[in-house]
Amino acid sequence: MKFAMIGAGAMGLRYGILLQEAGNDVTFIDTWQPHIDKIREQGGVYVSRDHQDRHLTPIKLETPESYKGDPDILIFFTKQMQLAGFLKRCEHFFNDRQYAFTCMNGMGHIEKLQQYFADDKIIAGTALIATVLNGPGDVDFMGKAGAGKMNMANLTEKPDEMTHQLFDELKKANMNPTLTTNFRGTLMTKVIFNSVINTLCTLFEIQMGEFGNFPKAYDLGRQLIDEAYDICERAGITLVSTRDEEMHALDINTRIDMPLHYPSMYQDMIHDRPTEVDYINGYIAQLGREHNYEAKTHIFLTNLVHLAEYHRANQ
Ligand code: NAD
Repeated sequence: MKFAMIGAGAMGLRYGILLQEAGNDVTFIDTWQPHIDKIREQGGVYVSRDHQDRHLTPIKLETPESYKGDPDILIFFTKQMQLAGFLKRCEHFFNDRQYAFTCMNGMGHIEKLQQYFADDKIIAGTALIATVLNGPGDVDFMGKAGAGKMNMANLTEKPDEMTHQLFDELKKANMNPTLTTNFRGTLMTKVIFNSVINTLCTLFEIQMGEFGNFPKAYDLGRQLIDEAYDICERAGITLVSTRDEEMHALDINTRIDMPLHYPSMYQDMIHDRPTEVDYINGYIAQLGREHNYEAKTHIFLTNLVHLAEYHRANQ
């Protein structure tokens, strides 16, 4: 299959390089000039696995303006606040035949994709796959080959032939996909998961294991989970796990699966980039407002992350 990776950061590189290694035709499209310059200068991207086996992987790289191809599927891996800009710059190569797929964190991206793609061409999901961009042209795939897993669903909740083809390619690429027919519930379950781990680890600049091993981690997580689940009940969203299952997943993920990992929101904070908190805790709070529920803890945490961003920007 022919893919265009829109956003060649940590996750764009991980998905794109693994799809390329599984035999697909992949082109990466990016806008961050130091990254583009470095990849061109060194003839590819340096890829490591868990800090080991650093090796150069050649890739095809274009900017939105220089790309002239016609991919079957465009895979979007930008930060939420970058997406509108990428869509506008890439619009000239979009057509009605193409599918848009993404596993970005947070919520807000689907409405933006709908401005350019028909509902039956949008597939989205969630990725429990940790990847770190060490710097321009240098990426680290955390976890062993085949580590991590992902979910995907059609916006229409009706998988078609292209969905199954994409699923097969992701499986060959060792991404461990699961296909669901609960679009909003699948995406929101991950938003809620991130609203605990990403946000608290970022605020305190700690690894996931440091949070998971804290004796009051359950209480902190439960308060956020309860607020978010109450809101989803009011909004008629059927989440893919119960509150207890979500608490269990938080515990296993932080203490056992990825204790040494800093979440992607932390990577943004330490590089003085804006975080996605408005699309995670902020999105839950907004959904609450729409359903007459004040998500006090999520609002408080959103403001705390903005305080940390503000403090760093004014140091
Ligand atoms: P990323 O920040 O690595 O890359 C996104 C874009 O930002 C790319 O175009 C990249 O070139 C550019 N970029 C990277 N560093 C930059 C810098 N210092 N200055 C300017 N531009 C820069 O983003 P990502 O981690 O690939 O995340 C994409 C989406 O996937 C997000 O919604 C994220 O939350 C989600 N996600 C990330 C992970 C992860 O482990 N990284 C896991 C699951 C989901």
